Amino acid sequence: MSMEHNTVKMPVYLDNNASTPMDPRVVDRMTDVLRHEHGHPSNKTHGFGNRAADLVETARAQVAELIGARPQEIVFTASATESCNLALKGVAEMYSQRGNHIVTSVSEHKAVLAPAGRLEERGLSVTRLAPDSYGRISAEAIDEVVGERTILVSAMAANNVVGTLNPIAAIGRMAKRRAVLFHCDATQAIGKIPINVEAMGIDLLSMSAHKFHGPKGVGALYIRRQAPKVRLTPQIDGGGQEGGIRGGTHNVPGIVGMGLACEIAANQLDEDARRMRALHDRLLTGFLRNIGNINLNGHPDERLPNTVNISFGGVVVAELLENLPDIAVSAGAACTSGTDDPNYVLRVMGCDEQRAGTSVRFSPGRFTTVEEIDYCIEKVSTAVNKLRSGNKSSFVCTF
Ligand code: PLP
Repeated sequence: MSMEHNTVKMPVYLDNNASTPMDPRVVDRMTDVLRHEHGHPSNKTHGFGNRAADLVETARAQVAELIGARPQEIVFTASATESCNLALKGVAEMYSQRGNHIVTSVSEHKAVLAPAGRLEERGLSVTRLAPDSYGRISAEAIDEVVGERTILVSAMAANNVVGTLNPIAAIGRMAKRRAVLFHCDATQAIGKIPINVEAMGIDLLSMSAHKFHGPKGVGALYIRRQAPKVRLTPQIDGGGQEGGIRGGTHNVPGIVGMGLACEIAANQLDEDARRMRALHDRLLTGFLRNIGNINLNGHPDERLPNTVNISFGGVVVAELLENLPDIAVSAGAACTSGTDDPNYVLRVMGCDEQRAGTSVRFSPGRFTTVEEIDYCIEKVSTAVNKLRSGNKSSFVCTF
């Protein structure tokens, strides 16, 4: 049950990298569309269909505007996972005559790693680079492994687990120089840092509305239309929607919600980022003040404004979370928690099992308050110090 304490909304939600609460403006707009706009956007023989089609095109322009693209370069999908699949598989099939090699990194989200693995099963060659200890991949490291048969480089803008930013503009310049296509999974970056496909040399970009206060079940893929014109083999064939690239009746309310979420993100990106950065710094400073023997994971500066991933040395994370029933955080990425995977991102960054296994991700968002951060600092500090004093005999300090 949910209850309000001044500006502390219980339970405290600090898991915005997994999914964000919808912005009330988006909820209102979508509710209106759900109530009144049931036309099929592909059926233009009456006003209902025409209005639905207009709604989709308005949203397309809003999405394009946020990333510096043109509306005709946006294809709506159901998720970032679908967008990444379409990008990787679509390029691999379309450019199979030109080459059969893809470069990516082991620290990518499964939305990229899984389709890359599937392509490998089909005979493609995939190079998965290891990141540095901050979780970064350099343009130089990618450049070294790009060869004659390379058709695509896929690098995420921001890591979902630790928040580290990749040098996307440098990777984009390198990809252009080597004449390979560049797909960027920008799912965690959108709405948190500025992303511009022209300035960053991105040819394909995946994003998902529920990561920036839009609805679940709707995403987009940006596909460059000129210099170079990127072509893709469709992965969902059907009624020819989205220029034949992605069949299926449009999720009109979801698409409208995504469009508005993009417009809001564009209008208040600086303000949102400043607020999130302040909350991030407050959380980190509070932990450092109250708790000894902790490590911030990820790059110290080149990081998302909202992501604080900390290893609490000597603490069993499951026990810590049990002691925090009214704080929602993540131990590992949402897609891997609940499995035995000891957080593969931290492991590929070179963290030992102790450090990877004692890490917790705190990700505030647009609607997080200072009071919620203070509540979290107090509760987590008390729980960690209590567990450590109870576990003295088995306490192992590895940092
Ligand atoms: N890529 C990254 C970096 C993510 O963080 C996520 C979700 O956590 C995804 C892709 C997948 O997004 P979706 O759930 O919309 O498919």
